[in-house]
Amino acid sequence: MSEIKQLLENNRKWSETTRRQNPEFFESLAKQQKPRYLWIGCSDSRVPANQIVDLPPGDVFVHRNVANLVVHTDFNCLSVLQYAVDVLKVEHIIVCGHYGCGGVDAAIEEQHLGLIGNWLGHIRDIAKQYEGELSPLNAKQKSDRLCEINVLEQAKNVRHNAIVVNALARGQKLHIHSWIYSLDNGLIKDLQSKTNES
Ligand SMILES: [Zn+2]
Repeated sequence: MSEIKQLLENNRKWSETTRRQNPEFFESLAKQQKPRYLWIGCSDSRVPANQIVDLPPGDVFVHRNVANLVVHTDFNCLSVLQYAVDVLKVEHIIVCGHYGCGGVDAAIEEQHLGLIGNWLGHIRDIAKQYEGELSPLNAKQKSDRLCEINVLEQAKNVRHNAIVVNALARGQKLHIHSWIYSLDNGLIKDLQSKTNES
């Protein structure tokens, strides 16, 4: 069986098993989605949102891009943020990065990667801003710390965005979390959780 046919076969089996365990599952999900969480994570195939927090379909609204960036001019990310906050009324926004992020490492090494180099420029800017803290560190420490700082900076971008500022101003419940995932042991570390302070 070809690789792609195998995926479709996997899907058929998954659908069958899910329905066997909960006959109403698809019917109730099809009517509406009411996720409590917005996940902004890295596209890295090793950091799948639902799976690492063990949540089923329907619970997490997901946006992923290379190095989990929240860029003020990125209409893709902003549309997701706006829909999640204003329409779905999620209660938690989780920015989740991960150690060993290829995007962060490429930004440190200043590799020339074509178009994506422009995207990673946002991380290079952060690295410059934190040069004093990062420069004494060895390569591994520097990568780990920049992965953490990047998450905190992206969560700050979420907090300072007008969509979130307006939601908090009208009293909407919204918690913003900065998480980092370890590829080595599958564990998430909570770097910071905030509500409305900057
Ligand atoms: Zn990554």
